[in-house]
Amino acid sequence: MSERVSVKTPKVRALILDVDGVLLASPHEQAWRDALTGLADPGRFTTQLYQDQVAGKPRAEGALSALRALGVADAQDQAPAYAVRKQARLEALIQAGGVRAFPDGLRFVERAAAAGLPMAVVSASRNADAMLRVCKRLDGGALLDRFAVNLNGRDEGPGKPDPWIILRASDELKTPPQACLVVEDATAGIQAARAAGALALGLARLNDAAGLRTAGAHRVVASLDDIAIDDLTTGHWTESAS
Ligand SMILES: [Mg+2]
Repeated sequence: MSERVSVKTPKVRALILDVDGVLLASPHEQAWRDALTGLADPGRFTTQLYQDQVAGKPRAEGALSALRALGVADAQDQAPAYAVRKQARLEALIQAGGVRAFPDGLRFVERAAAAGLPMAVVSASRNADAMLRVCKRLDGGALLDRFAVNLNGRDEGPGKPDPWIILRASDELKTPPQACLVVEDATAGIQAARAAGALALGLARLNDAAGLRTAGAHRVVASLDDIAIDDLTTGHWTESAS
């Protein structure tokens, strides 16, 4: 049993938000699963596998990582075509209305905006902008317009868990990483936040709190309704580390 230690908490001055799984329930996972047909049993592409191997990574890396995890013999050769099939399937699912915003995510964004916290979105997905445009804020505007900094789909640097995109967001937000709170639902994103020296909030919508803690999250919640914006800005948002 580890000893509980009190953590000194910096004040949060900006937010860096992942998109898929944090703000939006997008059909990414389903698209990756559907695109496996002919390569491996889609039933083996579990939510856990998606979270561990694919979520947060650039498309090509996610494709290879998933095929390797599924034991596909010629994963390296198959990955590019798999990634292309996934993208086609994803676009079909988005067209069919297969994306929705999480209500707690919408409320969180509005509460943060009302408190004057600047926000960045940092999805690895090139589809994130289209999805954030389709999804509406509580006041009816496009959700995408709420973010001062948009790094969605930017791939001139390495993908998460590398800290590149977090450091870039921190720079564009004109806020040091130590005062940026990163909200992520995937372990790769939490690792990127910690490697950048930022604050890491894990969002465990899928009952995967333990994995997010192991990845280094300062705090893990099941819903963004559990976070009070005042606690962020006054530095009282974290839980004791164990
Ligand atoms: Mg995510």
